[in-house]
Amino acid sequence: MLITKLKEKEKIVSVLNSRNVFIFKCFGCKEVYLPEEEIDLLLTELKCMDRTVGVDYLCREEFVERYLERYKERLEKVGKVVVFSCGVGVQVVAKLIPDIPVIPGCDTHYINGFQGLKAQDVDCQQCGECWLNLTGGICPITSCSKSLLNGPCGGANKDGKCEVSKNMDCGWVLIYKRLKLLNEDEILKRHPVNIRNYKLIITGNKKE
Ligand code: SF4
Ligand code: SF4
Repeated sequence: MLITKLKEKEKIVSVLNSRNVFIFKCFGCKEVYLPEEEIDLLLTELKCMDRTVGVDYLCREEFVERYLERYKERLEKVGKVVVFSCGVGVQVVAKLIPDIPVIPGCDTHYINGFQGLKAQDVDCQQCGECWLNLTGGICPITSCSKSLLNGPCGGANKDGKCEVSKNMDCGWVLIYKRLKLLNEDEILKRHPVNIRNYKLIITGNKKE
């Protein structure tokens, strides 16, 4: 089981206030608690409901492909997409619309319990502070062998493979390429060094 929390207001309000944004809100599922009421309150307060669609299972690529097809015309006109879901849902949307910046509206936290079997290509390690807005929608925690927030390390090969395994793409090369496609690679220079806050992981009854 995992839990999602709405991102701190000041981190998402400026994006949501833009008329040029489209919003997907997942209805959540048994494995993921989503603060739906809180999300709706914020979207209502910011008068964003006309730009929001609620959908089921944003973690399922085959569903998301259909949602994107259905809202194709609206998506062609927007500059950004905000996704309220767990980290998997945000990554699936970002993977399918790689040329539109996708911003997470929630942070995903770990809590104890069975996590279920995952059939997705992407994963979220519930780090408690979603970085996908800075990494082109590719998770640095799960796509990098060392879960670096400031990659790439010195070991990335010229062919874009990770030094840990030549069968694995370097996550940070993928992030750089995605940001380049989005014309947002300046983020890597502009943003200060990211430091992971391990206290944000809710440990439940696990010994720290
Ligand atoms: S950065 Fe990765 S691990 Fe952290 S919440 Fe986002 S998707 Fe999950
Ligand atoms: S080569 Fe890339 S994926 Fe591998 S550890 Fe270094 S930064 Fe991470």
